[in-house]
Amino acid sequence: MRRYGKHTDEDDVRVRPNRKGNRPRTNIRPKHEDAADGFVLTVDRGRLTCLVDGRVITAMKARELGRKGVVVGDRVGIVGDVSGDKDTLSRIVRVDERTSVLRRTADDDDPYERVVVANAHQLAIVTALADPEPRPRLIDRCLVAAYDAGLEPLLVLTKSDLAPAGPMLKTYEPLGVPYVVTSRDELANGEAADVVREQLAGRITAFVGHSGVGKTTLVNALVPDRQRATGLVNAVTGRGRHTTTSALALPLPDREGWVIDTPGVRSFGLNHVDPSRVIHAFPDLVPGTEGCPRACSHDEKECALDEWIADGHADPARLYSLRRLLRTRERREGD
Ligand code: ZN
Repeated sequence: MRRYGKHTDEDDVRVRPNRKGNRPRTNIRPKHEDAADGFVLTVDRGRLTCLVDGRVITAMKARELGRKGVVVGDRVGIVGDVSGDKDTLSRIVRVDERTSVLRRTADDDDPYERVVVANAHQLAIVTALADPEPRPRLIDRCLVAAYDAGLEPLLVLTKSDLAPAGPMLKTYEPLGVPYVVTSRDELANGEAADVVREQLAGRITAFVGHSGVGKTTLVNALVPDRQRATGLVNAVTGRGRHTTTSALALPLPDREGWVIDTPGVRSFGLNHVDPSRVIHAFPDLVPGTEGCPRACSHDEKECALDEWIADGHADPARLYSLRRLLRTRERREGD
């Protein structure tokens, strides 16, 4: 809303002396300005495996970072021995500002939100069309989490030879969610990976999906040297098999982006998601919210969207979809 009748303070601010600039310079250098830049590949019991100049190294969080968490996908500053030699341990002294943060709560009663992945651009939601049966509620929850985190969703539907994709697409196409449909044969012979890879180029994509949907098969096909990459991680951490409690970042061939494999999620708690942010997944509806009451949930009687839609400004299916996602957030079921 525009306000009239009063000059803004901006002009005053501009002529004010810049006190900060007049401060005497100090000789204190920023701490750790010689820290090496790293990228966090995985986290395992306090040890972080990072990539520094193409070398895989092990680091731990410096005490000075306090309670600040470091997660997969974080870009960090590392000091100490970053040679990657066996039994070396360096320290993470800086965590760069994140461009995105994918969070979840274990369930809706869980007061603690957990950062799953930092700096991802995209969330690939892998779902089988049958065996196991698709769980639309879980998909909706993943979509809300993706939109809240500022990630673009990508729906990967597998096992199309067992059940048609039509009914699922009828639900998700109106949401404008990009999708890929693949069969078990295509998953096995790598064709599915070829199609999915096109959607991943140059981006960091987190993959979610519960067991049995083909996520691991797909990720293995996308990252043919996964064994080598994972082996390298294990060799460095010296802790045997990679545990499935943390996400694991794997480089796509030719460095055309990153795949972040996340451990199977059974539920995707959305306790942390502010409902007012769900609307931002629907930019076409945002202009219609101008007449809404303050702090409108967009799922109440006074919401201006109903009239706006009735006036023909947007497809009613879009408003239906928005409300379905808003209600998803409130529902307690995990799948
Ligand atoms: Zn509203």
